[in-house]
Amino acid sequence: MQGKLLLFCGPSGSGKTTIVRHLLDTDPRLAFSISATTRPKRETETDGVDYHFISVNEFKRRIDAGEFVEWEEVYKDRFYGTLRSEVDRLWRENKVVVFDVDVEGGLQLKKTFGELLLAVFVMPPSVEALHQRLTARQSETPESLKARVAKAEHELTYAFRFDRVIVNDTLEHALEEAKQVVAGFVQ
Ligand code: 5GP
Repeated sequence: MQGKLLLFCGPSGSGKTTIVRHLLDTDPRLAFSISATTRPKRETETDGVDYHFISVNEFKRRIDAGEFVEWEEVYKDRFYGTLRSEVDRLWRENKVVVFDVDVEGGLQLKKTFGELLLAVFVMPPSVEALHQRLTARQSETPESLKARVAKAEHELTYAFRFDRVIVNDTLEHALEEAKQVVAGFVQ
């Protein structure tokens, strides 16, 4: 069985995860596709809820077994991927599947699912604002902060390929717009 899919992409620090969490908390028709990753778990995260945290070897085994709809080595030795089993499980539950993935992975999902998927790009108001948000989060080392900002600048050039763009200038405004996007897509 195939259902609808809703994709949120945007640079690290754009606020897309906050928007996705809010939508999931307030709309029972939506459910999150839990990605697999090899990056270490943050203190605030739970295995099997935020991600399936697995080793690099396990990740590579699953690539070879064809278990991913898409996967990326987003940062060096930091693999992230969408499991086909997640999408199938959520469709069986009649849910609209929600993705929070990087831009490359997002475009791959769009290619795979076509019109079934609505692709939304969450845009920070500026690169400076993004830098400030990532610094405030205190989850990054100076090196990983630099890598994330560099990747973000590149990702911003992809916004035009998405079905919708939401500028996250204030969270309140971005959440309101995200709700309208969902309302137009999920009927
Ligand atoms: P973070 O380490 O901040 O949780 O995520 C880093 C980046 O990886 C974010 O842009 C996030 O959206 C992306 N990401 C998370 N899960 C996946 C996935 O399954 N596939 C891909 N391609 N990217 C993902």
